[in-house]
Amino acid sequence: WDNGKAGTAIQKQILLGDAACGKSSLLVRLTDDRFLQHSEPTIGVEFGSRIVELKEGNDAGKRIKLQIWDTAGQESFRAITRSYYRGAGGALLVFSLTSHQSFSNCAGWLADLRAWGEDDLLVLVVGNKGDAVAEDGAEGAGGERREVEREEAEKWASEEGLAGYVETSAKSGQGVEEAFNTLTRLVHERH
Ligand code: GDP
Repeated sequence: WDNGKAGTAIQKQILLGDAACGKSSLLVRLTDDRFLQHSEPTIGVEFGSRIVELKEGNDAGKRIKLQIWDTAGQESFRAITRSYYRGAGGALLVFSLTSHQSFSNCAGWLADLRAWGEDDLLVLVVGNKGDAVAEDGAEGAGGERREVEREEAEKWASEEGLAGYVETSAKSGQGVEEAFNTLTRLVHERH
């Protein structure tokens, strides 16, 4: 990241997590405010940019340019290169609330983040597809069962000393701005 004299701070953030948990969809939602029902992993967006304004904290009102990197299918082969992690101040570690497997696999992704990421990398855990599941374990609007409870994910994030846990829906947009905003503010405050 960079905090130039012009006053426009730039932050690099990366998306990580199992294939199909909705990383590309989160990026498209944030940068283009759209949702694609049938996105193609291989033609996923690889890179997105967006200016966010800090909503709270000492620097409230400050504008920060986010450069957000997406794995664009590479995660299927665990073929993510060193350059993907280089210089990233924050990472969104994404899983799907409809797949406990995708949550369990976060441990492996976190190990990669710790091995390859910068020493001061901040990790926000994101449970996506919130629209598809209900709160109480019953079927949600999408007819799918919630396989990961909020408490379980919060507990894991806090045990690992991560920046926090949020739930999102790239489909409805719920929580998406907040997720990126929170991470941006935390990374900004750290530097
Ligand atoms: P990626 O492989 O992690 O980048 O995942 P994608 O963004 O390609 O999404 C995989 C599939 O899940 C696609 O069919 C998306 O339309 C769907 N999807 C992504 N986010 C959501 C969401 O928030 N809710 C629902 N219901 N489906 C989603």
